[in-house]
Amino acid sequence: MIILTLNCGSSSVKYQLINTKNKEKLAKGSVERIGMASSIISIATSDDKKKKLTKEILDHTAAVGAILNLMKDKDLKILKSFDEIDAVGHRVVHGGEEFKNSMLITKEVKDKLRENFKLAPLHNPPNLKGIEAAERVLTGRPHVGVFDTAFHSSMPEKAYIYALPYVFYKKYQIRRYGFHGTSHRYVSEYLSKFYKDGAKGKKVITAHIGNGASMAAIVDGKSVDTSMGFTPLEGLVMGSRSGDLDPAIILYIMGLQELSKSEADSLLNKHSGLMGISGLSSDVRDLEEEMEAGNKRAKLALDVYCYRIRKYVGAYAAAMGGLDTLIFTAGVGENSSFLRKSVCGGLDFLGISLDEKKNEEKSSEARKISSEKSKADIFVIPTDEELVIALDTEKIVKESKTT
Ligand code: ADP
Repeated sequence: MIILTLNCGSSSVKYQLINTKNKEKLAKGSVERIGMASSIISIATSDDKKKKLTKEILDHTAAVGAILNLMKDKDLKILKSFDEIDAVGHRVVHGGEEFKNSMLITKEVKDKLRENFKLAPLHNPPNLKGIEAAERVLTGRPHVGVFDTAFHSSMPEKAYIYALPYVFYKKYQIRRYGFHGTSHRYVSEYLSKFYKDGAKGKKVITAHIGNGASMAAIVDGKSVDTSMGFTPLEGLVMGSRSGDLDPAIILYIMGLQELSKSEADSLLNKHSGLMGISGLSSDVRDLEEEMEAGNKRAKLALDVYCYRIRKYVGAYAAAMGGLDTLIFTAGVGENSSFLRKSVCGGLDFLGISLDEKKNEEKSSEARKISSEKSKADIFVIPTDEELVIALDTEKIVKESKTT
């Protein structure tokens, strides 16, 4: 099948066109600055032809239209007609407690998504806008929602209940949901390429370390705990998010600086993390360079960042009662040998021992980087959330045709 995947944010749409038969990415790109004076539309084909246009794109419907028009561009030769697109797979950030698996989008599903707006006010409204835009432009095609939270729906109560009055869970659904589920699922399922039974019978920790970052503890292929919580703010130190913090601090700062709710939100999500500590950048590449040049704040930011990941490795090994496999993925996890070394160094007592040479090798392939003597295997596995979205979409469309 030819599947269009869409990941719609408030002012951007990221997309890929995937042939599920051979898993080829026929095209990928984004529309940025939707609703602003000059939106940027970019596309790259599988044979590396690229185009970038600046155009006024007022809303998500226009953005999806612009993406499809580029696919029919006569220089790029991706599609002859839109009829070649069989279905659309949508990334949806928050599935709440209802969506434990990917779903065919129906009116009832859209109503439920609207109900979940309160849980993810920044993410779910643009996700639904994207679904409705794509339904308008690609009429008569099945649309499937793939939820970031779904993989973590297997967590036990003890992992998802916060120690607040229980009524807050019952009345307002305040609990740990976890995010990046599609990525944690993809890399843990990828273990079937290394082990006969895949993740079955294994205790696995996945570390998705990108701009946003989260970890998951996975037993028998099922998520049993994860570091992001009610929102993606909890857990690891991220590019510009604080991660774990004494909740009383924010009340204290709000009082000190008379911050409004939205200012406090922006402080925690946009001005903290690596950016906040270093005062320089949220990008690990910049900070590694600065650290090597002797910048102490860059070093401190990276130290705090790696130390937090290391603490979660210990916590999840304890939670699972052991560890067979540790997986690094996403922008930083896949590319920074410094980060992997800082996290794994000195963890021999947990059975984790890195092969320093393999860790330094540059590759875009999935690979094992643990030493011969390591009890737990350490892998770098490049994530591919869009492929999961496309394959789930194909499966659900096929199932819906046979029922
Ligand atoms: P997103 O959460 O936006 O999907 P990615 O998974 O693409 O993020 O990760 C982006 C981050 O990856 C960048 O902010 C950068 O810090 C980091 N990164 C990319 N390449 C490297 C590299 N070679 N070394 C260290 N960090 C890198």
